[in-house]
Amino acid sequence: MSNVPSSSNFIRNIVIDDLETGKHNEIITRFPPEPNGYLHIGHAKSIILNFELADEFKGKTNLRFDDTNPTKEDTEYVESIKEDVEWLGFHWDNLFFASNYFDTMYEKAQLLIKKGKAYVCDLTPEEIRQYRGTLTQPGKESPYRNRTVEENLDLFEKMKNGDFPDGSKVLRAKIDMSSPNINMRDPIIYRISHSEHHNTGSKWCIYPMYDFAHPLEDAIEGITHSICTLEFEDHRPLYDWFVAECEMESIPRQIEFARLNITNTVMSKRKLKLLVDEGIVDGWDDPRMPTIAGLRRRGYTSESIRKFCREIGVAKAGSTVDAQMLEYFIREDLNSKAPRAMAVINPLKLVITNYPEGQTEMLEIENNPDDETAGKRQVPFSRELYIEKEDFMENPPKKYFRLFPGNEVRLKGAYFVKCNDVIKDENGNVTEIHCTYDIETKSGSGFTGRKVKGTIHWVDATSAVPAEFRLYEPLILESKDDEEEKHFLEQINPNSLTVMKGFIEPHFKNAKPQDKLQLFRHGYFNVDIKNFTEDNLVFNRIVSLKSSFRLK
Ligand code: ATP
Ligand code: MG
Repeated sequence: MSNVPSSSNFIRNIVIDDLETGKHNEIITRFPPEPNGYLHIGHAKSIILNFELADEFKGKTNLRFDDTNPTKEDTEYVESIKEDVEWLGFHWDNLFFASNYFDTMYEKAQLLIKKGKAYVCDLTPEEIRQYRGTLTQPGKESPYRNRTVEENLDLFEKMKNGDFPDGSKVLRAKIDMSSPNINMRDPIIYRISHSEHHNTGSKWCIYPMYDFAHPLEDAIEGITHSICTLEFEDHRPLYDWFVAECEMESIPRQIEFARLNITNTVMSKRKLKLLVDEGIVDGWDDPRMPTIAGLRRRGYTSESIRKFCREIGVAKAGSTVDAQMLEYFIREDLNSKAPRAMAVINPLKLVITNYPEGQTEMLEIENNPDDETAGKRQVPFSRELYIEKEDFMENPPKKYFRLFPGNEVRLKGAYFVKCNDVIKDENGNVTEIHCTYDIETKSGSGFTGRKVKGTIHWVDATSAVPAEFRLYEPLILESKDDEEEKHFLEQINPNSLTVMKGFIEPHFKNAKPQDKLQLFRHGYFNVDIKNFTEDNLVFNRIVSLKSSFRLK
């Protein structure tokens, strides 16, 4: 990425200050995902913040997989995360795995034991919870707290060698059981887990806890500013304690900012995984998912996501962003880029009875009315067309300006047609409408004889290409990002996907996956990358055309 001027924020000010006072000569940031799911748009905010900050001040950014929890992590996630970061437009200076530091972490834990700052504890997980106390009550010291250094070193080594079953022992920091900050009440440093790790295999059966591992990872890499989300604010004293007591040479500074939340969206890998596992969506890249892979398949461009993330800014106070704001940025981006096309997604046959049978003429229609350089394309027109079912009503209400018996409308880019007859099946459903056209009224001919109030779109029935149109609604009905799983699964919108079978003008029969179009009156669409074949075009609606949303 080229140097992008970031809008100012409190983290940027800290960085500027640290460079000006000479505290640092170079800044190093990192993006540290746990590979236990695909990245979502919240992660994009963090990626953009970390990479652009380093980039602006000619620093470095590491991509570091925080893989300290063997049971949840997978190489599929590692690969998807790399792909998504690159697609967003960023290049890491180093690619690291926290699991590569397991040896150093083990040594640092031994150092803590030797300094009398850590001990092996045999309390059960439930007892540890009880002994921890509450916000109003101090904790109670573990009966194992005063084991000797020798005993602790010996037990810790045995833990590492696999002599004890899962959950039977932990290594804990010896800090202060009466600290008002519960995180400081002898937190767990290592736990036993006899499970296969995606990177280290079965080498280890003890794994470091996040609060211990993360500050060491940052310090090992020489990270200057370790940016994380607000829920870690209360963990900062512990972060600093581990860096100091482990005698790390380089001292990183943790800075917290508010995580991104979006209305009608869940933004937690745990919940997103549940949607995938329960089969509520078609994988992590389902176009309804707020994952980067889902947004990409839906048709969002990386540019629109970057602009959105810059606009929402970086703050200390949590808030929920209106989903319409994200839609605003993709409309902005595609308005100038996406060629226009006509497609009918819910077809009704229209026959022009006075148009010569067997004749086809080519009409010239502009590719983008807002951009002359986009040129024009040839659109075939003949006696039989498809229009939208909703563009015809047999008994219209007042102010309905589209087709109804006796009414005349303009066919976009073509002629005026007037409805004369309605053909129905035995059940009374309209199957065809018969019109006559007026050859004088051809678009672009300068005809001024009379005016019509409605313009409708159409495709030529003989040459149009059959296509599938997928229309989306929010996946979650309520914006509340409730912590309770049950509650969230009850909020799933049953109508989040509607599949329509229709037709698109023949010009687009060679459309490629990820091509983006503006379909007249329907919105912006993206050619699906997964279910796309040559004879089955699938178009995902990215957004409709209009919204009342305005940027403040
Ligand atoms: P999740 O709850 O979705 O699993 P996480 O924070 O556990 O999120 P990590 O893989 O640990 O996921 O996150 C990597 C980085 O992305 C962290 O620095 C984290 O703070 C940041 N991040 C995660 N979610 C958001 C969000 N909604 N907004 C901003 N940053 C986020
Ligand atoms: Mg996590």
